[in-house]
Amino acid sequence: MTCALALFSGGLDSILACRVVAGQGITVQAVKFVTPFFGYDLLADEQEYARKVKESYGIDVVLRDVSESYFAMLRNPPHGYGKNFNPCIDCKILLLREAKRLMAEFSASFLITGEVIGQRPMSQRRDTLRVIERDSGCTGILLRPLCAKKQVPTLAETEGLVDRELLLDFNGRGRQPQIQLAERFGISDYPRPAGGCVLTESEQAKRIAWYYGRYPEVRLNDVRMLLFGRHFQLPHGGWFVLGRDEAENSRLESLRDPADYLVHMPERSGPMGVLHDTKHPDDFAAAAGLVVRFGKRIDGEAARATVLFAAGTEEFNLEAGPLVDQAFQGWSL
Ligand code: SF4
Repeated sequence: MTCALALFSGGLDSILACRVVAGQGITVQAVKFVTPFFGYDLLADEQEYARKVKESYGIDVVLRDVSESYFAMLRNPPHGYGKNFNPCIDCKILLLREAKRLMAEFSASFLITGEVIGQRPMSQRRDTLRVIERDSGCTGILLRPLCAKKQVPTLAETEGLVDRELLLDFNGRGRQPQIQLAERFGISDYPRPAGGCVLTESEQAKRIAWYYGRYPEVRLNDVRMLLFGRHFQLPHGGWFVLGRDEAENSRLESLRDPADYLVHMPERSGPMGVLHDTKHPDDFAAAAGLVVRFGKRIDGEAARATVLFAAGTEEFNLEAGPLVDQAFQGWSL
């Protein structure tokens, strides 16, 4: 039985690509690659995700975490960044390389993606699709079922594994052909296009770019921490993160490195903070002032409070009043 390995984003195009090929009696195994920038939360319950995809679309999917190789690529993507910190061309090249490596594990004869010529300005132009194929080492083994008839036949077609006549000739930005095809497959509940990648979101992307500019080594938990909470660069270099609710406070606590200071008010409810990379007394004072500023108000006032700093076996308190807003306006990341 022929097997195809599909790069699965979870969006409609990748769903349709899988179904078109599976419709020819080919076993399709989908793989969804995740990093903290996209899809990472799914790792918390992979089985549930796989169950939902199977139930909704009839597709078998596995998750693969490619964070480490992705972090390295993101520092210097050979094809550059898009509008924000999104290295779309190199992202696709990396994911295809990873998929190619997995082909043996799943006894796959070829790869499929849901790409459509001309759908995205940067990464889905005809010449770019060729570059992606070439640089990922996937020339000839990568079938794009939704626009295959607009492309040079791949090995799967010339060797008769796939009937080219039953593939499609979609191109351009219009979504109507995909929507009609989805209807034919009886698929009505699917995610909207785009979205889901924080590297394309300007605020998040700026913060990630700041982190890359500052740290030569990228740590998984740091990156995960960059994606929620309030962030400040303190005047003497400290990077301070504050939770905005209970859930963020708990996440911060679980992600922080033991060398980082956990900062909070032991006698009053308020945010949990994590202070990185500073021993400067002014940064400690600033962090304490921020915790009080964003803490619970007493009679409408953010009154002075004791703020506890703890890192490893080191622990100390500072008394602090709320920092006035003008004092930290330029610190936000
Ligand atoms: S939007 Fe994000 S996930 Fe999609 S190709 Fe670009 S970098 Fe990769």
